[in-house]
Amino acid sequence: MSDTSVLEGLIQALRRLPGVGVKSASRMAYHLLQHDREGAELISQALHQAASQVQHCERCHTFTTQTVCDTCLDDGRDTTRLCVVETPADQSAVERTAAYKGLYFVLMGRISPLDGFGPKDIGLEKLMARASDGMVKEVILATNFTAEGEATAHVLSEGLKKRGVQVTRLARGVPVGSELEYVDLGTIAHALVDRRDA
Ligand SMILES: [Zn+2]
Repeated sequence: MSDTSVLEGLIQALRRLPGVGVKSASRMAYHLLQHDREGAELISQALHQAASQVQHCERCHTFTTQTVCDTCLDDGRDTTRLCVVETPADQSAVERTAAYKGLYFVLMGRISPLDGFGPKDIGLEKLMARASDGMVKEVILATNFTAEGEATAHVLSEGLKKRGVQVTRLARGVPVGSELEYVDLGTIAHALVDRRDA
């Protein structure tokens, strides 16, 4: 490959990252090549490793390097409760409150028609099957309090109720428009305790 096409290939690859345009991609590429070759190797290896080893947990859909993740395998958990969150970061936020000891389902996104994300993209069928497996008694919808998070909660709630599953939603202590990841732990803990029927 010619010099320009190797460089251009790197810049184009970096541009696939969200929010990275041609200017930032060029800056990153030149920085790595000029000042941080070790960093370039590190990123390359870490990406390769993650891309080849990380998969979705068979049960909760989160990222894991195993077939079933550690949280799902934890036998100290209340298997009758299933908390639905948008992202692994939101799951961590709920975990840090220590107010919840049940299991999770991670949507890995939200329903967002404008971005082309529909029910299929959030593993809706998988969640429905999981929630109606007979073990789960309550599904707690902990999607974000944004327009998309609320819309997602609505769709999930309708589907789950049709299957006779008890559905609750985090209480309104969580500020409107906010993402769980950035909400303080006390607020999430209260919202969990005060959850209401969805
Ligand atoms: Zn899992």
